[in-house]
Amino acid sequence: MINNILCFLNIHKYGDWVHVGMLSNHQEKLKRRCKNCGELDIYKGFTETCITTGKKSPYVFKH
Ligand SMILES: [Zn+2]
Repeated sequence: MINNILCFLNIHKYGDWVHVGMLSNHQEKLKRRCKNCGELDIYKGFTETCITTGKKSPYVFKH
């Protein structure tokens, strides 16, 4: 029940990013879905790959 409230507030519980395709040499398209309501989230841009799991995620600039 609490999960539905969070989804209603647009705070989704997304699963892992899934690689969809390449946009250019270094930019990719990723997607992930909310585990509760199935809301789809699309990311296009630079990605990074986790060294330990091999899973891709959006590249976050580190300061
Ligand atoms: Zn959701």
